Amino acid sequence: DKPLLEVENLNTRFNTIEGSVHAVNGMSFTVNDGEIVGIVGESGSGKSVTALSLVRLEDPGEITSGSIRFRDTEMTTANDRTIRQVRGDGMAMVFQDPMTTLNPVYKVSEQIVESMKVHQSSDNQRLLDYLKIPIFSSRKGWKSMEERAVDLMAQVGIPHPEQRLDAYPHEFSGGMRQRAMLAIALAREPDLLIADEPTTALDVTIQAQILDRIRTLNEELGMAVLMITHDLGVVAELCDRVIVMYGGEVMETGHTEQVLTNPSHPYTRSLLECMPQNTSRKEPLNVIEGQVPDMIGDVGGCPFASRCSYASEECRNGQIPSIDVEEDHDATCCHLHKVPDSNPETVGDRQ
Ligand code: SF4
Ligand code: MG
Repeated sequence: DKPLLEVENLNTRFNTIEGSVHAVNGMSFTVNDGEIVGIVGESGSGKSVTALSLVRLEDPGEITSGSIRFRDTEMTTANDRTIRQVRGDGMAMVFQDPMTTLNPVYKVSEQIVESMKVHQSSDNQRLLDYLKIPIFSSRKGWKSMEERAVDLMAQVGIPHPEQRLDAYPHEFSGGMRQRAMLAIALAREPDLLIADEPTTALDVTIQAQILDRIRTLNEELGMAVLMITHDLGVVAELCDRVIVMYGGEVMETGHTEQVLTNPSHPYTRSLLECMPQNTSRKEPLNVIEGQVPDMIGDVGGCPFASRCSYASEECRNGQIPSIDVEEDHDATCCHLHKVPDSNPETVGDRQ
């Protein structure tokens, strides 16, 4: 079966006064129908630019080469109309800051209804599909858009939605705004929800509730999810597969269980070591020494070389191979044999 989304050798750059910044440098990955895939890495690793490139919101950056195929649409060469159509009901994005999506001058319910209209008008066939799904209630006949908005608000966990039909975004708490944004994205019934750190600003309880909602929606609607996060805890909680990203490149990828129990790339190891050992205690976190690279000018070799204790000359200048760790599990590193074997038991104990 063809993947829902197939990204091949994607390059996205920004022109700055200091030179061209290689924010995304040869990324390749897939997302299958109904799957939850995580892209994890520190801030500045190129995760958000990757996500924005997928829905062609990379401006002022520029996709310089590579391919983004969403079903039968090649996004890198698609015209504006096609891109709008895909954003209408193909790939919907939820951002870290709800206020980038929520318009302060319209009621939240109005914005959900607007989003439904975008979905409905995107294509006649889609409209027919739309009319078959659960907006039909035998007692009342076709539900109004407003009633459907209430359903969506309930679905994302907004309590008493019928009492919030007249509420504006500023009357919502941070967690409620994040849910409202999710409802707006879901109104389009996307095949793929791209969520960029949707719970980062929220406290752990609300975060867990929203992740739980996302998983339920994935299970009930079959909607695929691409979750962008810096938090391996979120990956462990939610994702079927994970892509560990650093310096605009894939460092390690595999099924979540493979990567968390048998982390092979030095960068993945470092990320795991920075995870809190016990989330109920507030211990200071370890941080990985050094800075993320600025990725200006010609980039070659391994982006992690300046922070990696196994780095050699080959790492700095060579072509770094992608090595099969096990089936479906790969790591991009030329000295994997030097990295001591992980101990699955101790890694498991951390969770
Ligand atoms: Fe470290 Fe070299 Fe592997 Fe990069 S390629 S992670 S620098 S050992
Ligand atoms: Mg980001």
